Amino acid sequence: MPQNTCDLLLANAEIHDGLGRPPVRGGVAIGDGHILAVGDVSDWRAREIRDLGGLCLAPGFIDVHTHDDRAVLDDSGMEPKITQGVTSVIVGNCGISLAPYKNPPRLVPPLGLLGDPQDYRFDSFAAYGQAVDAANVAVNVAALAGHGTLRAMSMEDTEAPASQAEIEKMRALLREALEAGVLGLSTGLAYPVARSAPTDEIVTLSRELAAFPGALYVTHMRDERDKVEEAVGETIDIGRQAGVPVVISHHKCIGRHNYGRSQRTLSMIDKALRHQDIAMDVYPYEASSTVLLPELTRHAERILVINSRSHPEFNGKELSHAAEQMGCDEEEAARRLAPAMGVYFQMSPEDIRRIMTHPRTMIGSDGIPGPQSHPRLWGTFPRVLGRYVREDNVLPLEEAIRKMTSLPAQVFGIARRGRLQSGFAADLVAFDREEVLDLADYDTPDRPSAGIAHVFVNGTAVLEDGKVTGARGGRFLRRGAA
Ligand code: ZN
Repeated sequence: MPQNTCDLLLANAEIHDGLGRPPVRGGVAIGDGHILAVGDVSDWRAREIRDLGGLCLAPGFIDVHTHDDRAVLDDSGMEPKITQGVTSVIVGNCGISLAPYKNPPRLVPPLGLLGDPQDYRFDSFAAYGQAVDAANVAVNVAALAGHGTLRAMSMEDTEAPASQAEIEKMRALLREALEAGVLGLSTGLAYPVARSAPTDEIVTLSRELAAFPGALYVTHMRDERDKVEEAVGETIDIGRQAGVPVVISHHKCIGRHNYGRSQRTLSMIDKALRHQDIAMDVYPYEASSTVLLPELTRHAERILVINSRSHPEFNGKELSHAAEQMGCDEEEAARRLAPAMGVYFQMSPEDIRRIMTHPRTMIGSDGIPGPQSHPRLWGTFPRVLGRYVREDNVLPLEEAIRKMTSLPAQVFGIARRGRLQSGFAADLVAFDREEVLDLADYDTPDRPSAGIAHVFVNGTAVLEDGKVTGARGGRFLRRGAA
């Protein structure tokens, strides 16, 4: 019998194909950055054979919700992600993308979340994609065009609805972005830069997406608090009117009096799913994190201040403590601490579990790189596998893996990734299902996880035996392109 040859053979693994099917024993043959065979690989000869000793082998995780736009350029080793088994990140979420926006004099919130004005230096997505490829990133990078960035680039006054001429400018920029391969349009309708945009403005822009097969609308909704159901309704409407698939970002119900409302939002989504394409993502934490804004302080049970530039002495302290020290209320304290970020404790564990187990829900970290961060930046994926799967039995392992791999690839139009299948890119993670666990917490948010053994990006080992190799395998992923 003729023998096949490959570069690397991963043998003796528990193989999870990413589609949610029960695992099988076997191996994976890799050559030229691609998967050549899966399962029984006994007739393959390889330059290098690695016995995985029964570790789980799965497609590399796709982090669908990130703010890594600048990090992939400036910190391209991407340690917070590869140590979790993440091999691809989607940037440009919540209406904020680093392109197209060049040399702004100042940044309207929340654009500062990605960096300083000088970090915005790309007048097109073609230029951003080239910069990503030149940066030699450890992970693959796919992008969304941010509506807030389009507004900042096109409008005199972002606290108003866009004029017809401004909408035309945004449409042209969005078309350029889609031609350069972005996956779709994102919005952050709760934020100052975008909150004055009426639904019609979003529908008009989203109609551009319909001309690009697979392009989708992704939203940090207008409200995740008392009006969360209206916001879900608006999102469903936008998808229906524009004729495009929609993704609800970091779905949650904020504030104690809104706990449990995910029952209603999910039933709205189920009803709409009969007629249109909807998906969502979630992160496994009861605290959210974003810019510290006075109007966001009201619903939280407590708030940690991080990354305050004006009052660094309050970093890591509670906002209530800062308010007391400054002799003012929390809203005023948030104003005085700016620019700053906050960690807001304001979600219920039941809602998180209910949302996570919905079949259309993916996992996304929403991690925001910075000097101080929320533990989700380093811990999201191992936390789902360790706590939600192994410890609490919230969902089966193969289903959790599907939510991190084939589902995001299918929803976002990322071709030939997210499955262990011959012909697919060799993005893989090997982990110990008994050991995998997040170690990052609110006190030490930048601690790598346990149990992630090996990570390959396009066939390149970026993590071996739990250690970063320094090798780089990632590239910019264009919509639909393999
Ligand atoms: Zn967001």
